[in-house]
Amino acid sequence: MGAGAGPDASEPSRADGMVSDIPGVPLVILTADCLPIILADARHKVVAAVHAGWRGTFDMIAANAVAAMVGAGANPAAIEARFGPYIGECCFEVGADLYSRFADKFSLAAAPDRPSLDLGRLNKSILIESGLRPENIQTLALCTRDNPDLFYSWRRDGVTGRQAAVAAIKNASNQLVVE
Ligand SMILES: [Zn+2]
Repeated sequence: MGAGAGPDASEPSRADGMVSDIPGVPLVILTADCLPIILADARHKVVAAVHAGWRGTFDMIAANAVAAMVGAGANPAAIEARFGPYIGECCFEVGADLYSRFADKFSLAAAPDRPSLDLGRLNKSILIESGLRPENIQTLALCTRDNPDLFYSWRRDGVTGRQAAVAAIKNASNQLVVE
């Protein structure tokens, strides 16, 4: 879940994806197992922050974010993507029914004995389909559930904190902050 606030901070919006071309307004995504994605076109000064759980991934939220960025002037070939930590395929077991829905939509292999999803690999392929260059997509191969010293994990801990991913266009400069 992400939340955005305008300069007066009076009307924060809550959504799983946000796009901005307004300098000085940071976009924040909070996650604990779901995949956080930061997208940035530095040349055209458009950024996006996306919270991609299995629902958002299935509904192609990353492709929707790219489309919204293009609507704000971005060029997919110029967009850089950074993936934050998420629950790895090693730990993200899903039911056979859900797996088969993904398998049909994303041409995955037939259900293995322990069906599981790799949100990073799925979203990387979605972004490439959307026109991003593979070399502009940096993923992080660290499972949230397997790294209790580093990350919060909802599947591991139940009640837990959240990782924050932030994207912003700096005020009055050409620099872009992605962290
Ligand atoms: Zn794991």
